[in-house]
Amino acid sequence: MQSSTNRYSPVDLEFKWQKRWEQLGLHRTPEPSQNRSENFYALSMFPYPSGNLHMGHVRNYVITDVIARVQRLKGKRVLHPMGWDAFGLPAENAAIERGVDPAQWTEQNIGQMREQLKRLGLSIDWDREFSTCEPTYYRWTQWLFLQFFDAKLAYQKEANVNWDPIDKTVLANEQVNNEGRSWRSGAIVEKRKLKQWFFKITDYAENLLSDLTSLEGWPERVRTMQANWIGKSVGAEIDFDLIDSNLNTDSLRSKIKVFTTRPDTLYGVSYLVLAPEHPLVDQLTSIEQKKQVSEFQSMVAATSEQDRLADDRPKSGVALGGMVQHPITKEALPVWIADYVLPDYGTGAVMGVPAHDERDFSFALKYNLSIKTVVVPANPIAADDQPVTNINSEPSSAYTELGLLINSAEFNGMAGEEAKKAIIDKAEQAGFGKAKVTFRLRDWLISRQRYWGCPIPIIHCDECGAVPVPIDQLPVKLCKPGDNIEKVECPKCARLASRETDTMDTFMCSSWYFLRYTDATNKNLPFTKENASAWMPVDQYVGGVEHAILHLLYSRFFTKVLSNRGLVNCDEPFKQLLTQGMVQATTYRNPNSQKYISPANIGDPLDPTDPDTGEKLEILYEKMSKSKYNGIDPSVVINKYGADTARMFILFKAPAEKDLEWDDADVEGQFRFLQRIWRLCQNALEKGISLSNTTKNEIRNTSNADKELRRAIHGAIQAISEDLSGEELQFNTAVSELMKLNNALSTNFDQADPSIIQEGLAILLKLLAPFAPHLADELWLQLGGERSVHQQCWPIADSSALERDTITIVLQIKGKVRGNLEVAADIDSSKLEELALASEEAKKWLDGKNPSRVIVVPGKLVNLVP
Ligand SMILES: [Zn+2]
Repeated sequence: MQSSTNRYSPVDLEFKWQKRWEQLGLHRTPEPSQNRSENFYALSMFPYPSGNLHMGHVRNYVITDVIARVQRLKGKRVLHPMGWDAFGLPAENAAIERGVDPAQWTEQNIGQMREQLKRLGLSIDWDREFSTCEPTYYRWTQWLFLQFFDAKLAYQKEANVNWDPIDKTVLANEQVNNEGRSWRSGAIVEKRKLKQWFFKITDYAENLLSDLTSLEGWPERVRTMQANWIGKSVGAEIDFDLIDSNLNTDSLRSKIKVFTTRPDTLYGVSYLVLAPEHPLVDQLTSIEQKKQVSEFQSMVAATSEQDRLADDRPKSGVALGGMVQHPITKEALPVWIADYVLPDYGTGAVMGVPAHDERDFSFALKYNLSIKTVVVPANPIAADDQPVTNINSEPSSAYTELGLLINSAEFNGMAGEEAKKAIIDKAEQAGFGKAKVTFRLRDWLISRQRYWGCPIPIIHCDECGAVPVPIDQLPVKLCKPGDNIEKVECPKCARLASRETDTMDTFMCSSWYFLRYTDATNKNLPFTKENASAWMPVDQYVGGVEHAILHLLYSRFFTKVLSNRGLVNCDEPFKQLLTQGMVQATTYRNPNSQKYISPANIGDPLDPTDPDTGEKLEILYEKMSKSKYNGIDPSVVINKYGADTARMFILFKAPAEKDLEWDDADVEGQFRFLQRIWRLCQNALEKGISLSNTTKNEIRNTSNADKELRRAIHGAIQAISEDLSGEELQFNTAVSELMKLNNALSTNFDQADPSIIQEGLAILLKLLAPFAPHLADELWLQLGGERSVHQQCWPIADSSALERDTITIVLQIKGKVRGNLEVAADIDSSKLEELALASEEAKKWLDGKNPSRVIVVPGKLVNLVP
């Protein structure tokens, strides 16, 4: 035996195995089975090629890798691919800063990151790798765009859009955070009116919402976030006719459409409020109000959407001077504009019902508008503080619950939903309104005014309008900044026309990449339906929760559209979703200046101080980031301890969904654990124990200690198998079980029957293989195991080994526990009763008398009732 095998030196060993696996083609995707349930698709959200792998990536990919490896051992045909989400602004900005081509910058980053990923020992099928910026990929993104265009789901419109002044491009609503900032640049987003391309995701709003209930393998939190983002409201659309007093007499009679979720409060409307951008504002503004209205409009235009909606901000508005008519009472109602009504939500107009809406109530008080109570609590006890006799006096607050209608003519006395329905029926009969469902979800703005993205394959012709680029001319290549916009022939009429210059949102590229992996080298189609069907939906998707309403919603939308067009036969892309927690590490912050201090400059880590001011620093755990000086470079850890230790630490330290706090001592602890496994196997080698099939010994299994050891071995199989199946994957407790098994084998090593040690080691290495794949394969080979440990079958617990020979029965006498009985596990009730009656305890507590009753609960207790 070579002496070098006696020391665990992970770095060399890991390189060796990575090379060997590659030579063996161990991670190549097998031909899928016709039986979908025999195939398993494990997928990590693909990275943006920034050039550097961070710990968040490591956690994400290691989790997916363990899942893929376990499924392979369980006999599934596994697809576990990787690629690059390569278009986007960081590459373009970096390229501008450094004066290089973004393609070159991206390619170089991919090269670096691929090597870093390979160092983790991930069982990825690199034959299916692609990058979304390659023409062989974006050609199909364009092809899919044309599918949407053909389905009338891609359209251009002039709209008030989010403009990022730093990145100089528009953004989708999903890409603006709740502070009104760009998700990428952090700039406060401005509103601009521009002609843009949209995807009609709103056509699928109902579907995207209702199908959330079918996603049982998704975290509840993500489903809730999507449901809230889609934001369904059920109510009515009501028309209010304009009163033409100060309008041009021959202008058409116009209406204002209002959406409300409370049609039951229609009799309580005392005014209407429009968004300052509403198209009818000019028509409704009286000459006297013109100046005030236009000043108010400019003020609002300079305010962010978030500020306009902020709860703590006083609402302000201006009366237009124009009036509308209440559709039932024919009463004249004033029309206002206010900052809190947005042009793109609902109809851009709301009815003011101050008695039954908090915001309307404070608005009415502020501007002295009338308040009419039309709903009272249905429960008379709850009505105590609003006595029915006083209902016509002004209330002191809005009553916003459903209740009984009053002051509402023939609807008086009706309650809640019944009242809503009755008023909607009336509106429909009289023609002034209808039932209506609205969604918070807006259409997806997909055009970007940047170079480094997938070009939109459209030609604009003065005669024919927007014409798709013929499919045989795809891909439309990127148009370099500064290039003259190419004049091209219109594919329809052959007149000179111009190419669309906008590119697509990069979220377009990532909305279908999981389909491309199923057929990554297809030159004629993005994927065949056959290949997609063999693997889709993704069995296990792993990624960050920050994509809950961006990528995860868009991908669902794409899949539904493609399903409707017969291109795939699944309706949802991701069956199970695991959103891993963040990787955090210690930060040191000055609580007064909020400045972060590098750990190199804090002095005593137990009593850190600001080197400039001497102030005490606070110690926090936060997501790793350069600006907080708490990032840990994965390659440093891997070079010191090996990838197996890094993997084990990340899996053990916290449950996968929870945030993980980096701790060097725990990394060290995992390294020592792997060393203990190494030593155990070296001891086995010295003892001549081999895993080769030809030397398999018959397990005699005689002594109690041997039986205990076998119970520990098979108990570990059972526990780890449970941890790694179902919806709740428990990698951390699985690692604990591995530690317990290693301890059991080590402590019993000298006394135990070698055949049991042999059995235990084989099982330990198979169970370890998904977690520490290099070490497991090395030890498997050293101990003479056949082929690779990764080509073995997942062990199955031997139920006879798990059985206990004896069990402990509780003995109760006169309702109290008086002792225990150690009995054979397969004892029958009459024998148990006999033993209980013969016990010392029975003699002592029953005074020699027979009990009047004996209750036996098999396997648990005997109760002697005197
Ligand atoms: Zn034309």
